[in-house]
Amino acid sequence: MIDLKKFQVWFITGTQDLYGEETLKQVAVHAQEVAEALNKEGKISVSVVYKPIVKTPDQIFETLQQANVDKDCIGVITWMHTFSPAKMWIRGLNILQKPLLHLHTQFNRDIPWSTIDMDFMNLNQSAHGDREFGFMVSRMRKDRKVVVGHWQDAEVIGQIDTWARAAAGWNDWQGAKFARFGDNMRYVAVTDGDKVEAEMKFGFSVNTYGIGDLVAIINNVSDEAVKALVAEYEATYTMADDLKTGGVRHASVYDAAKIEIGLRKFLVDGNFKGFSDTFEDLHGMIQLPGIAAQRLMEDGYGFAGEGDWKTAALVRACKVMGAGLAGGNAFMEDYTYHFDPSNSMVLGSHMLEIDSSLAKGKASLEVHPLGIGGKADPARLVFNVAGGNALNASLIDMGNRFRLLVNEVEAVEVENDLPNLPVARVLWKPLPDMKTGCAAWIYAGGAHHTVYSQNLTTEHLLDFANIAGLEYINIGADTKINQFRNELHWNEVFYK
Ligand code: MN
Repeated sequence: MIDLKKFQVWFITGTQDLYGEETLKQVAVHAQEVAEALNKEGKISVSVVYKPIVKTPDQIFETLQQANVDKDCIGVITWMHTFSPAKMWIRGLNILQKPLLHLHTQFNRDIPWSTIDMDFMNLNQSAHGDREFGFMVSRMRKDRKVVVGHWQDAEVIGQIDTWARAAAGWNDWQGAKFARFGDNMRYVAVTDGDKVEAEMKFGFSVNTYGIGDLVAIINNVSDEAVKALVAEYEATYTMADDLKTGGVRHASVYDAAKIEIGLRKFLVDGNFKGFSDTFEDLHGMIQLPGIAAQRLMEDGYGFAGEGDWKTAALVRACKVMGAGLAGGNAFMEDYTYHFDPSNSMVLGSHMLEIDSSLAKGKASLEVHPLGIGGKADPARLVFNVAGGNALNASLIDMGNRFRLLVNEVEAVEVENDLPNLPVARVLWKPLPDMKTGCAAWIYAGGAHHTVYSQNLTTEHLLDFANIAGLEYINIGADTKINQFRNELHWNEVFYK
């Protein structure tokens, strides 16, 4: 569903006419070599496309204008191999709407000590050419990512890839549609927010559909299609005999499969990238979608429960940013705590809808009663989640801005049998420690709904926040609570 290689970042090298034909030819050859190496190395998940070197204000303007309208172009990388007087960039940068990465590199890695002369100096002057360009971007208050180092350095390539992934997440939001079945869970604050402002800032739209529209599609699903999906369930998951075809409780699984097919058809036909529902508005539904939501997320759809469109959109963006990487990105909820002072941790889960992309090993398809919603017992996948570094990210509406809050966590293996817990679960320890991590989260107004990511880093989310114009707040190993509270206070002034 998500293929990043079809997207392009344009490699644009700035220079000027002053140097004469020979030097400019050399600039073009070098720029092409750098762009092609970045592209062919295979470490950058999108395509890096060389663009002819730009020497005049008009060439700069035209190239950046094309970048704006090109559907496949999701961002531009700039590099000043030579000196490119930056007033030439004003018109172009003024209209640039795609994410910008400034690669502060140099064609040669080392100074050629024994042969260096003025011709060499004339050609290899990124050290000051890129400073002139950087001044103008800062002077124009334009956000961008600056990556410093030789273009063959693995760390440099990794940083470019991280930004390219963030740019892909941002690109995916532009024009994206998220469906909301029913409104917000009654009286809940953090899942609500300004959908008009979000569309203006982020480019995606959120609109409501009556649950009856979905029920009509579910009711039309053929018996044949349901049986085929049930067969897939039986082949993929551990299931008790009474849930399998012919078993006394099979009807619950059959109904769940029918919901999945209907929901998938609704999303595909409407070209949606994600959805939300609420257990308070299920008229005509037999069950709350459990396994349906879990498997749709695994296939790349954004989702969050209880009308939480912000988290659904963030889940989707994270899935795009993490496409092709090992590990998952999932809707999550901090559910309950283990306050053992020597081993404090959080149990993350939801009442049903934990993304099956997180499953460690074979998931178990189970049917249990659900205490809320007043519907039939829903089918859901139950599984454990692997340990390792992960993070939780939350997108909240602070009234005058949206905030992206991230907490780095260390997931730990689930060691105890949890025979009576009928949902998928994750255990983690927040950084820097349980008390500081949770207190900082609450001071920052972080939601109980998050995206739980096994494969994105704080750098992905920071790049994404900068591109999206989001306030970015991080809780990690270095967080000190007093300093953290000051940061929140200072940001209030910045965003006033
Ligand atoms: Mn919830």
